Amino acid sequence: MCQFFKGYAMTIRFAKCDYAVLSDAKALSQGADLTGLAVNNDDTCPFAQYDGTDGAYHLSVDFSDPVKPVPRCSCPSKKSPCKHTVTLLYAHLAIEK
Ligand SMILES: [Zn+2]
Repeated sequence: MCQFFKGYAMTIRFAKCDYAVLSDAKALSQGADLTGLAVNNDDTCPFAQYDGTDGAYHLSVDFSDPVKPVPRCSCPSKKSPCKHTVTLLYAHLAIEK
């Protein structure tokens, strides 16, 4: 688990209070569409793969600068962070419980 990732409050801040993204992400995280959920060796960058309708998206959230986490996703969404990267954080929260 990423040491900088501090739960729901952080997830909401990360999503920049975009409630549409947050609710989409929460719905997605209850499915089983994320595979290969893991964290890098430095424990700063959770990553996974999401099986979307257009193929697999590779997603990660880089917390190496904890003040400015960097979401990365190969989906076509113009939103940043997209629902997939927020889903990734929800999924890690679920594991930690
Ligand atoms: Zn995405």
